[in-house]
Amino acid sequence: MNKLAVFFDTDQDFFQQRLNQVKVDRYEKTRNSLDGSVTYLSPYITHGFEALPAIVRYLKMKHSLNTKHKLYAELGWREYFQHVWGHLGNGIFEDIRPAIPGISYSSEMPLDILTANTGIATIDRSIQMLYTLGYLHNHARMWLASYCVHYRKIAWLPAAQWLYGHLLDGDLASNHLSWQWVARTFSSKPYLFNAANVAKYASVEWHCENTPIDTTYEVLENLAFSPDVMPRIPRATLLQDPVPELFTTPPTDLVEKFALIKKVDPKKLLGKTNIALIHPWNLKDQEGPFFQLGIIDLGFHQRFAWSRKRWEFVLTRMKHICRDILIADLSTTLIPLIEQNPHLNFEITQTYNPSYFELIKRLEVYENTLVHPVPRFLDDPENLCPSFSKFWQQVTSKNSYPRP
Ligand SMILES: Cc1cc2nc3c(=O)[nH]c(=O)nc-3n(C[C@H](O)[C@H](O)[C@H](O)COP(=O)(O)OP(=O)(O)OC[C@H]3O[C@@H](n4cnc5c(N)ncnc54)[C@H](O)[C@@H]3O)c2cc1C
Repeated sequence: MNKLAVFFDTDQDFFQQRLNQVKVDRYEKTRNSLDGSVTYLSPYITHGFEALPAIVRYLKMKHSLNTKHKLYAELGWREYFQHVWGHLGNGIFEDIRPAIPGISYSSEMPLDILTANTGIATIDRSIQMLYTLGYLHNHARMWLASYCVHYRKIAWLPAAQWLYGHLLDGDLASNHLSWQWVARTFSSKPYLFNAANVAKYASVEWHCENTPIDTTYEVLENLAFSPDVMPRIPRATLLQDPVPELFTTPPTDLVEKFALIKKVDPKKLLGKTNIALIHPWNLKDQEGPFFQLGIIDLGFHQRFAWSRKRWEFVLTRMKHICRDILIADLSTTLIPLIEQNPHLNFEITQTYNPSYFELIKRLEVYENTLVHPVPRFLDDPENLCPSFSKFWQQVTSKNSYPRP
């Protein structure tokens, strides 16, 4: 698939087609290249178009996916990050291990990065692609993160928040913990890249020969461990359009387009029995006779802003499967709705996303509300595994087994 042509439709058929197109063996051989056979499934996995255990079951059946496959291990990385999130909660937003000492990382994202004008094609193209598609290949994410933290000395958290907001697949655990892994606050050494590494995995327009990145790993490591910043290369701005905005509530025209509501009209629930509460990480069309109610919690979004592209992606899918979409402070709207309607059965799936997590935890006490756990396809070790290898060892050992 041509990377620049990749796009993400919200139809079930489109998602199913993408799942059918997965090539387990080619993935293994080519996944590190920007034009390799990656799956492009991440927006669908993040937003729960189908729960990950069901996706893995399907890939096992259709493509004989098993623990020996690289794709299985990469999906395992996602489960590992969720495992860490489940244990640390808001702790993933702080350094897990001490940062490289003696460096004062900036908390501001510089304008040349925001406008894709660093003069380094690898970075500028990544940012343009991010803004255009809401997606980036894993290698481009690693280069971008390493450039920001180690070469430009930007603190990983504001940079992670910026990337998160523009990705359609933005997942707080996979994103923030990957940034920490690059930064060395969740790994034993900083992740660095040079021009030769880019040349190996990307086509020529992405290369960065004759820039300060075109050097040895020794030079780059010295830079990463010093307070120095890589010099900028002035260049004409590549980005023609203004920097896409991040929104803490859906843009007004989308509020109208999707007819978002601030409270539920009780008349709409007359004659209903089962209500499925659908949040942005569980956008699966439920089987059974459900009244599906989309729910968006303002408390979460005040902390984590999204691009227009991401709001549109989530709301289009939500509108497609839900009768109504409620956007509110859910602790003051949803809980009274459940309390005032003891004759109705509510169902919801847990997520570690802050604000939603605490709210759903509170719902567990209501007899008329069934809370499904965060879906997982691997076991979730009781104690926090400090590294992926420890986690992998435990979840693939004989005493443990992938869930059916
Ligand atoms: C700085 C940085 C930020 C990232 N932010 C996110 C994010 O917000 N959301 C997100 O889903 N992934 C994130 N990743 C992980 C990875 O880059 C993406 O999951 C992957 O590029 C998505 O494209 P794909 O579906 O085509 O991946 P494929 O390579 O086809 O992988 C299939 C699936 O496996 C999982 N996966 C693959 N690689 C990883 C990985 N390294 N870590 C965790 N899960 C993985 C994803 O669910 C992915 O959809 C980040 C990585 C880095 C280095």
